[in-house]
Amino acid sequence: MLTVKAARDIVLEHCRSIEVGRLPSDVVPLPASQGRVLAEPVYLDRDQPPFDRSMRDGYAVKSRDLDPLPARLRCVGEIKAGEVPTRVLKSGEAIQIMTGAPAPEGADAVVMVEHTERLPKDDVAVFRSLPPGANIAPTGSERRQGELLMPPSTRLGVLEMGALAAVGKAQVRVFRRPAAGILATGDELVDVDQEPGPGQIRNSNAYSLSAQVVSHGGAPRVLDTAGDTLDPLRRQISLGLENDILLVSGGVSAGKYDLVEDVFEELGIQIQFEAVSMRPGKPTVFARRGRQFVFGLPGNPVSTFVAFELFVVPVLQALQGLPAGSLKMVRGRLQDRIQEKSGRTALLPATVSVESGDIRIQPVSWKGSADLFSLADANGLVVVPLECREMSAGQQADALLFEPMTGNSDCEF
Ligand code: AMP
Ligand code: MG
Repeated sequence: MLTVKAARDIVLEHCRSIEVGRLPSDVVPLPASQGRVLAEPVYLDRDQPPFDRSMRDGYAVKSRDLDPLPARLRCVGEIKAGEVPTRVLKSGEAIQIMTGAPAPEGADAVVMVEHTERLPKDDVAVFRSLPPGANIAPTGSERRQGELLMPPSTRLGVLEMGALAAVGKAQVRVFRRPAAGILATGDELVDVDQEPGPGQIRNSNAYSLSAQVVSHGGAPRVLDTAGDTLDPLRRQISLGLENDILLVSGGVSAGKYDLVEDVFEELGIQIQFEAVSMRPGKPTVFARRGRQFVFGLPGNPVSTFVAFELFVVPVLQALQGLPAGSLKMVRGRLQDRIQEKSGRTALLPATVSVESGDIRIQPVSWKGSADLFSLADANGLVVVPLECREMSAGQQADALLFEPMTGNSDCEF
């Protein structure tokens, strides 16, 4: 059976066939670009700062006029932010200036208002000397016009929004969100707003998969649930193939009514692998049909979740023009003993936290791959390597993070 690494390598190899230059893109208003991936390079449209900018409220001066102290200068004008200086500063003069205003020609420093005193007859006394250049950010000292600000494939987050606004990107070209069809299969499933009858359960996978797709930048398209018979499966899987990715949950194990793989084959969906040596998530199927990526995910909710994190996320990344494949792994100290009988690579729900500078990995008490309530207590998955039957408390372990680490610092600044 394929190892997790070998299976991921197969998926990543398929991801490499995606040509970033040919991915579809949309132009969206700047606020709507948050969370999406840049499809064009963005350059500085002008020098930053665009003029010699005063960094303080104070007086524009010639630094050599500030000796001896206190210096007495004649205040000959005022420049507010948004104004343009109208005169050249001469020796013995000062011009009152505000933060963000352009420094006048002839001035080489701005003395802070706190270090001055206004005197009668428009004079000003200065109590500190300054080196040339003090409190003035020269034109282009941060960035130059034409310089690359962001390359394509930059994920646009909170930090990028202000920078894009500052260079005038009211409209941003971003890669289109990959469409992911989500098809839950199983005669036992009812939707979330229905009362399950005897033997029935609620379709939770459609909702958790949908949330995973959204959180990784895709657009979920949930299909009507299919029962475990060939006709509805054929119909719904065919419909699902209208998307970039199709995620089918359930029906891929060894049961008599696990028919999904048969239908894949009938529809010309080529299976690349159908089992991975992992727990949970062993019967994960990865397949292709033309440009489409198709997954058969084991129906148990935690298996579905874990298989998605390992195998679907890279495809979503690649289809958005992002580099695919890096997992958010952390190494820390295991807080409890783990016994693992499967001999497969186990990915077990765990809470990863930072305590006094130490990364701690606490496995959550978990009843197996159907136990999705315990998954909600976790923020990661601790990795038990292949063939490893036991890990002891205190030993170093790796964990895959799917939520930010929790911390215990009570710093309030
Ligand atoms: P299967 O992979 O179809 O054999 O399903 C394995 C287990 O997962 C069974 O107990 C199913 O009832 C359960 N299951 C399948 N699909 C879903 C779903 N969409 N939501 C919640 N549980 C599911
Ligand atoms: Mg089933």
